[in-house]
Amino acid sequence: MKSLQERDQLVNWHPYTQMKTAAAPIAIVKGQGVFLYDENGKRYIDAVSSWWVTLHGHAHPYIAQRVSEQLNTLEQVIFAGFTHEPAIQLAENLLKLLPSNQQKVFYTDNGSTAVEVALKMCLQYWTNQKQPKRKILAFKNAYHGDTFGAMSVSGRSVWTHPFEELLFDVVFIDLPNADNLAALKSQIDEIATEVCCFIYEPLVQGSAGMLMYDAESLSTLMNYCRSHKIWLIQDEVFTGFGRTGKLFATDHLTAVPDLMCFSKGLTGGTLPMGITTCTAPIYNAFYSDNQHQALFHGHSFTANPLACTAALASLELLLLASTQQNIGRIVQKHKVFSKSISQHPKIKAIRQLGTILAMEWNTDSSSYFSSLKEKLYVYFLEKGILLRPLGNILYILPPYCIEDSELDYIYHAIEEALEEL
Ligand SMILES: *Cc1c(COP(=O)(O)O)cnc(C)c1O
Repeated sequence: MKSLQERDQLVNWHPYTQMKTAAAPIAIVKGQGVFLYDENGKRYIDAVSSWWVTLHGHAHPYIAQRVSEQLNTLEQVIFAGFTHEPAIQLAENLLKLLPSNQQKVFYTDNGSTAVEVALKMCLQYWTNQKQPKRKILAFKNAYHGDTFGAMSVSGRSVWTHPFEELLFDVVFIDLPNADNLAALKSQIDEIATEVCCFIYEPLVQGSAGMLMYDAESLSTLMNYCRSHKIWLIQDEVFTGFGRTGKLFATDHLTAVPDLMCFSKGLTGGTLPMGITTCTAPIYNAFYSDNQHQALFHGHSFTANPLACTAALASLELLLLASTQQNIGRIVQKHKVFSKSISQHPKIKAIRQLGTILAMEWNTDSSSYFSSLKEKLYVYFLEKGILLRPLGNILYILPPYCIEDSELDYIYHAIEEALEEL
């Protein structure tokens, strides 16, 4: 009989993967809590939350129970002309946790589409106002997704290269800090009247390698854009739902965004879903007797009741005192560990925000394809740990249910790797 691995290779094409040179994928047959189990019975600590989505561990019984009840009640319904309780309840519950200017929820089914919707809302806002503005601001090295609009507002890289001439123009600026704010402001001054919106990953650029920047500079930049009527799109697809140590990255800021994008941890990592929220002024620019001013965007599975229910259950779990304590515990443990290795000669830099800990290794090549990446990946897999470095940047992003002993096991494996590799 063929293994799952062999059958997979005959029919599946995997994301971001050179199928010719990549090792055969590991076939997972079961997930439970922080662990993944492969077809040979080997288990792995999921130290990257399965691409940053899993919050409370795999196959969480409470989420499973809620989704299963919903599955027997209403699995899917068209969301134009119809609505349902899970979509209403989730919008109510989520908005309560966001800055009070966030007033409306628009559902999609992943992070890239949540970004597409935010961009379309901003672009069409100005069209509906009969004052079309088309320039968009974003940060260098940004990552906002893989669809064309989301790619366009992402930094140009190996990922966007094959499509580059088809991407729309975006003005890319440096991450702000106390020293360059004045220069950034004057850069914005020059184009401000044509700029429709500014999209940014708050405080952490995840895919770029967990690059971090400070809340105060970002708040200053946000307020400056606001003074120029530039809409602020805060992409919290990665930073949302506790990753930064607070519920949302926005809770670190003194400025508030106009639109927010969510996905990844939204359903606790159970089902795909995206959400874009916006303020009343944005919503009101589409609210009209004129049919042409409606927002023409939707997906077949918009506001899928199962995904909404998973999100409701995940949010309940996230707000539990015990989960918040777990987050605090991870933050503290990361702190102690990063201090202990910060002087190691192989460590070039170490960065932490909340539960996100990133270690940049000294290497000749910092490229995404660096050979160190592959070495580290295999090294940890052998020890039963799933860590998937971004180039020479190794990061830990655990589900919140991870135990101290499991964190210690990961830390210890990293210390060994620092000696052995
Ligand atoms: C992952 C990510 C996206 C894209 O989400 P997908 O669900 O993978 O399409 C967008 N923005 C940020 C900040 C992300 O980290």
